[in-house]
Amino acid sequence: MGTFNITVIPGDGIGPEVTSSAVRVLEEVGAKFGHKFNFEYSICGGAAYDKYGEPLPQESLQKCLDSDSVLLGAVGGPQYDDLPYEKRPERALLGVRKAMGLYANLRPAKLFDALADVCPLKHAKNIDMLVVRELIGGIYFGEKGVRMGKYGREGYDVMCYGELEVERICRAAFELAQKRRGKVTSVDKANVLKTSGIWRKVVHDIHEDYPDVQLEDVLVDNMAMQLVRDPSQFDVIVTGNLFGDILSDLASQCVGSIGILPSASINDTTRGLYEPIHGSAPTIAGKNIANPIATILSASMMLKYAFDLSKEAEAVDKAVEKALNDGARTADLAQPGLPVLGTAEMTDTILKNL
Ligand code: NAD
Repeated sequence: MGTFNITVIPGDGIGPEVTSSAVRVLEEVGAKFGHKFNFEYSICGGAAYDKYGEPLPQESLQKCLDSDSVLLGAVGGPQYDDLPYEKRPERALLGVRKAMGLYANLRPAKLFDALADVCPLKHAKNIDMLVVRELIGGIYFGEKGVRMGKYGREGYDVMCYGELEVERICRAAFELAQKRRGKVTSVDKANVLKTSGIWRKVVHDIHEDYPDVQLEDVLVDNMAMQLVRDPSQFDVIVTGNLFGDILSDLASQCVGSIGILPSASINDTTRGLYEPIHGSAPTIAGKNIANPIATILSASMMLKYAFDLSKEAEAVDKAVEKALNDGARTADLAQPGLPVLGTAEMTDTILKNL
């Protein structure tokens, strides 16, 4: 029996729909297992820009910092595309991650047996990987600007990684691998980038502390190819912010749809940010067709990592798996002969299985 204070950031686009599904699931978990989840809502992203003229008001950020954990839908939308960089909804996301010191983003991509035919890869099986993406460093946080150059105005973004930044994300990856199949694939571009040279040196130095874990280096271009060729060869994949952002979307397609991939952004405390890896999907927003599974599984990761409620997390994972095994499909997972459920109906089905 526990009491947990969760800040919910519904955000933009499909964010409010999918977070509402995850909240319903958490409430049911609370009722079934005797926990109390208190939900406090925080306005961030485009919704905050519309209301306050800025994407991350101090009060919204403070709610995140004061809670036990944060559940986020997604932010962004085409109506904000022409805003100056500081006002863009995505700034809220980077701001919350940075302020909470969430340096490790865990993105599991596991193929559900029921979705083998939805997966665009032929003969897909045994896909179970965990992308560990560095989240608050690298090119997304480096010096950036626009200046005059030889070819006219030029934009620049600096990619930089310090040894300690690489060390902490690598330790996280090795420790997670110890609890899984004991293999870490470190992805870089060490044949071209100085940043990657430091990255690779640190990974190998730190590896000496984890002799039970197998380590391999793969260049990012080869990694893109290998993920499509045979994703079952990977266990834990550790990489920087930019490569991790791109490769985890690719990993999502290996298991069927971006609509089922959760993520946890964590640090050395128990307070973290839990969110689907997808964005605000503006073209399907408000139509009750978004897949809520990625956000529901993000809530499950919160139960496990933030609140140490593994039994409850497993119950949620099993409820999702049973729904898929029984043929429940949202539009992104549509299969011939199976009816297509809306966001709310898929959530109802999962709740019934809990
Ligand atoms: P997206 O992830 O929103 O959508 C990519 C594709 O996947 C679209 O076809 C969309 O319809 C589909 N999709 C996404 N989530 C789905 C779900 N739950 N169910 C069914 N289909 C789903 O990426 P995008 O189109 O590149 O970006 C849209 C907006 O989201 C942009 O403003 C972008 O900046 C923002 N974004 C936000 C986050 C975040 O908040 N973490 C992440 C990525 C993109």
